[in-house]
Amino acid sequence: MSETYDFAAIEAKWQRAWEEGRAFRAVADPARPKFYCLEMYPYPSGRIHMGHVRNYSIGDVIARQKRMTGASVLHPIGWDALGMPAENAAIKHGTHPQTWTLDNVAHMRTQLKRLGISYDWDREVNTCLPEYYKWNQWIFLRMLERGLAFRKESWVNWCSQCRTVLANEQVVGGGCWRCETPVTQKKMEQWFLKITAYADELLSGHAALGKWPAHVLEMQKNWIGKSTGAHVRFGLDGAAKTIEVFTTRIDTIYGATFLVVSAEHPIVPDLIAGPREKELGAWVARTAAAMRQRRDVGETEKDGVDTGKRAVNPFTGERIPVWIANYVLMDYGTGAIMGVPAHDARDFEFAKTYHIPIRTVIAPAGKAGDRYDGEPAEVSEAAGVLVNSGPFDGLPSDKAMDEMGAYAEAKGFGRRSTIFRLRDWGISRQRYWGTPIPVIYCDHCGVVGVPDKDLPVELPFDVKLTGEEGSPLERLESFVRTTCPTCGGPARRETDTMDTFVDSSWYFFRYCSPRETALPFRPEEAKAWLPVDLYIGGVEHAILHLIYSRFFTKVLRDLGMTDVSEPFPHYLAQGMVTKDGSAMSKSKGNIVDPDEIFQRYGADAMRVFILFASPPDKEFAWSEDGLEGCYRFLVRIWSLVLEDLDVFDGPAAALDPSSGLVRKVHQTIRKVTDDIAVRFHLNTAISSIMELYNQTRKEREALRETPAGRAALRLALEAMVRLLSPFAPHLAEELWERTGHAGLLMLSGWPVFDPALAREEMATVVVQVNGKVRDRLEAVPGTPEAELEAAALALPKVQTALGGRPPRKVITVKDKLVNIVG
Ligand SMILES: [Zn+2]
Ligand SMILES: [Zn+2]
Repeated sequence: MSETYDFAAIEAKWQRAWEEGRAFRAVADPARPKFYCLEMYPYPSGRIHMGHVRNYSIGDVIARQKRMTGASVLHPIGWDALGMPAENAAIKHGTHPQTWTLDNVAHMRTQLKRLGISYDWDREVNTCLPEYYKWNQWIFLRMLERGLAFRKESWVNWCSQCRTVLANEQVVGGGCWRCETPVTQKKMEQWFLKITAYADELLSGHAALGKWPAHVLEMQKNWIGKSTGAHVRFGLDGAAKTIEVFTTRIDTIYGATFLVVSAEHPIVPDLIAGPREKELGAWVARTAAAMRQRRDVGETEKDGVDTGKRAVNPFTGERIPVWIANYVLMDYGTGAIMGVPAHDARDFEFAKTYHIPIRTVIAPAGKAGDRYDGEPAEVSEAAGVLVNSGPFDGLPSDKAMDEMGAYAEAKGFGRRSTIFRLRDWGISRQRYWGTPIPVIYCDHCGVVGVPDKDLPVELPFDVKLTGEEGSPLERLESFVRTTCPTCGGPARRETDTMDTFVDSSWYFFRYCSPRETALPFRPEEAKAWLPVDLYIGGVEHAILHLIYSRFFTKVLRDLGMTDVSEPFPHYLAQGMVTKDGSAMSKSKGNIVDPDEIFQRYGADAMRVFILFASPPDKEFAWSEDGLEGCYRFLVRIWSLVLEDLDVFDGPAAALDPSSGLVRKVHQTIRKVTDDIAVRFHLNTAISSIMELYNQTRKEREALRETPAGRAALRLALEAMVRLLSPFAPHLAEELWERTGHAGLLMLSGWPVFDPALAREEMATVVVQVNGKVRDRLEAVPGTPEAELEAAALALPKVQTALGGRPPRKVITVKDKLVNIVG
């Protein structure tokens, strides 16, 4: 009876060995291919959860396999450690956010080491330490110098629960992304980062992101929201003012039967002036307030008022009514649109509600000769050919857009243009546990950036956190009062802190030279490692972190610090971890604690299970039975190798290349290599290793009888251990040692296959028609019946024998026979 599988002792032993040998230290080496494998770093909430285990296990298999193939691998980890949960916990428990955070980091670090992830711990970063956030401030100052950081008063999203401002990206379905509290609007002076300066490039850069999930690119595309069209100025009848609209369909401008402005448009006071001012003013105030509440919520019922004023269509001279309505937002385009009900669904709905005329100006191609006098029964948004459009009649839509845009430019009342939905990124937060914005306000000099030599502006430790509204720093006189770096006079510090998404927008650069003290990172180190070759993390960051970090990378490039424009050419969005049909969450009470699993089954079994049960990008359903099964698989491999240890004694005899097991070994190496490195099908890689185990187990007794058989057995066991090592690294190292190998398995190289031996043997399938052999097919063993049947029916000899008639019946026997009855 072999020794029991003592995973606890084995895992502790090898974790110690890796740590003592600094086995995962990343060393940039131009002589070898580099691989930068990155998982999104965690927020140190206190304990790792199954989502982390999955994310980091996926990255670990790929990093380990790459390292074994000889690549120089950078696989770092750190802590996204600033942000509100620490502050809220501090208020609740009377601790300091820093104490709470660092305690959590210490515990989670132990957990990750317990999981056996191959991180280079020498490169650990922690964003709540001044040595890190100093560089947030440095980058901010460079942006300030270039006009990419600026201050303005604007309506901002406000979460009353979190008592802070939220970026547009952090408003999800009208609620706070963190606590789901309905977001309201507040007018405040805020710091913004000019992400819109890169809007076009953030979109065109998608061309280099072919290895991203299509739906993530689609989400970003919609978020950036590029529209090409034209700005056109309508005159306001009887006034010297104009109203500028943006339209993507200038070809429909002859069909404009009204104009709509947003309730927040600055021209509204002019429009409502007159006898109905009071009534209209009240409506506008009510509507504007409601719109601020429900921004981003999508469709609401359309509501509007006719101001009685008229606008003049510069193309036709026609006077059309000016409405104020709730379906036009001030922060998209110009806050005013032309209403073309025949060719825009929202305008159609509005016109129907308020009995506004509807006029067709676009005919379907080939139908331009028909008459279009009456009102159409339904809206048509399709492009076509212009009718009822004066000198532009007969032009196709695309040509008309160009010509009418040029006409507007020539006449001076409009221009062809592009607009974006993307807004600048508001980063001011009225909370304590963030990076202080490095700015000083002086009565003489105005807004002054803190000089680089005075960085970091450190978060004062001694602060009262009460949970009251307003920044805690604002109440700390010793922090606020300072002297102006320019004139030396008395001045005040900015008391808002930065959105914590700033920290994660460039942390992947910091890993390249994490202890650098003169710059955020050394450009030559970044050059050696960037871009990240594989980035793995949850899809919930599709438009927050994954747009912000692309933006920061482009800014750093323009500062001359990197030549990389896209930090993550390959992004793998890992699927959710669920249990009993829903995502694991505290509120659902369906959480499985990784610590408990470590204790009962060990890290290797948990890793194998979490990777085996589904492909990385698909949902993963937790099951105790599945875990148990993977644990038993590891126990079986353990026992099998230990039972056959004697085959590793002395030099191995010559192999018989025609042996089924030898071929199976080479096929398995090929399959597992492709599954990990090319397809990321980690689940099928594990099943292939299981198949190899099964075949070895079955043939073992017979193989032990001959020297060649014993050599084949040795080959199979050794391959099994090596292929398993990225998944169950501790068990694999232990078996590697037990089978007489010196040195770490993870440094022993990745097994290679012989393509000739790895080739699948083909099965010869006989094809009969009415009992007579007509032809033969070569097929990979196990080809499904339907495929064999289709291939057989396509054979010319079979078609001739059937005389062009469909077969009456087909009987197929896998790998052997297709029998067709004609
Ligand atoms: Zn909130
Ligand atoms: Zn001054």
